Amino acid sequence: AVTVFWFRRDLRLEDNVGLFHALQSPYPVIPLFIFDDAILDSLPKNDARVGFIHESLSKINAQLDELGSSLLIKKGTTAAVWQSLIQEYNIKEVFFNKDYEPYAIKRDLVICDLLQANNVVTNCDKDQVIFEEKEITKDDGLPYTVYTPYKNKWLEKYRLNAPVTEFDCSVYFSNFYKSIFDFPTLEQIGFTANPIKVKPHNLTQISNYQETRDFPALDTTSYLSPHLRFGTVSIRKLVNWAARKNDVFLSELIWREFFIQILYSFPKVIDHNFKSAYDGIQWRNNEDDFKRWCTGTTGYPMVDAGMRQLNETGYMHNRVRMVVASFLCKHLLIQWQWGEAYFAEKLLDYELAANVGNWQWAAGTGCDAAPYFRVFNPEIQLKKFDEKGIYIRKWIPEFDLGYGQPLVDHAMARDRAIATYKAGILK
Ligand code: FAD
Repeated sequence: AVTVFWFRRDLRLEDNVGLFHALQSPYPVIPLFIFDDAILDSLPKNDARVGFIHESLSKINAQLDELGSSLLIKKGTTAAVWQSLIQEYNIKEVFFNKDYEPYAIKRDLVICDLLQANNVVTNCDKDQVIFEEKEITKDDGLPYTVYTPYKNKWLEKYRLNAPVTEFDCSVYFSNFYKSIFDFPTLEQIGFTANPIKVKPHNLTQISNYQETRDFPALDTTSYLSPHLRFGTVSIRKLVNWAARKNDVFLSELIWREFFIQILYSFPKVIDHNFKSAYDGIQWRNNEDDFKRWCTGTTGYPMVDAGMRQLNETGYMHNRVRMVVASFLCKHLLIQWQWGEAYFAEKLLDYELAANVGNWQWAAGTGCDAAPYFRVFNPEIQLKKFDEKGIYIRKWIPEFDLGYGQPLVDHAMARDRAIATYKAGILK
């Protein structure tokens, strides 16, 4: 008899709640990862995120190897994989960590039904966030839709039990199933390597975070986002660390949970405006303008540098993400869903909750969003946040030779955006 621990977006052996509980099972624990066809089939064959998952699994496998164990890697639809695992092993218990995205919630319900129908006990844990689902609500039990009161309640609750417990899985490492499963290459999974790679995270410059984080040329942010997305770092360790080091940085980690909570409570935000009063806006949705935005050729250096950074590295600095998103929705009047989808394809740190939440924030359609009449001026943003043009020259080498004509005139686009929003917002 065996127990299975199913890795998904928690790709680490350290401080992993579900794994910590699984390893205390009376049966040896098979660590499993499934390359899920339902997710992979829509991705390009050289998707850099699949490469990162593969690399992270290979690190886990090397750690397991020292314990005489190894990862069991499968590929297929999750239901078919579980079906065959049930045939192959005498599985008594399955453990996994909760995922709050609508697709994952549905998938997990199907798998739990299948397992339970075969007398397998299923256990799922909170691992991805400090507070989940309905743990942080208004006094009337309804979800918060405004960030600051959410954050205050979050901090109040965190401080009651700070630091939060971390889970030392290594105490139980001897309970891994002893085996040497074959570890597939990326090619065997049907993918190829991509030169775009996830950077290691960097917390060395966080002490001055509040002063430096808005300046893309300084490049002092943590690069944690893909690691949080795939769980190669633990949120508990980070939050306990941030709570001692830097409040502003901590509040960014709380933004992450805020948007996870919004997606959980209002799953329609994936493709519908959070504020339905904004449904009447007449977007221009011009395909040529969209192409110019995607390729970083709008003639606005801050916008173009950001899009080129995204295209070349799979990353864009947060300040610049806000500028390019506002530009797309307001200057070009292209609906936020187009930009959200482009980011989803390109970002190494793409995460549904944060991407949708931030895009709706920029478009003004989201909860606690930027007011519709606030239209970032990309030239002023450049003067404020990249005064010496260091960031833009990095991504636009031809900049000094004289830069192209802007795709739209700022003053005209601003007036047009405000008028279009005003006319479209239902009273
Ligand atoms: P740091 O400044 O070091 O922040 C630390 C961590 O805090 C981040 O890794 C992230 O987990 C969290 N965080 C910071 N800002 C935000 C925020 N505004 N919303 C939610 N969490 C935040 N972040 C994603 O992780 N995935 C996305 O798909 C994503 N899409 C975005 C789209 C737009 C239009 C905008 C404006 C922002 C988006 N963000 C997204 C948020 C933010 O830009 C990135 O989290 C951040 O730039 C990642 O770099 P970092 O880890 O160095 O950030």
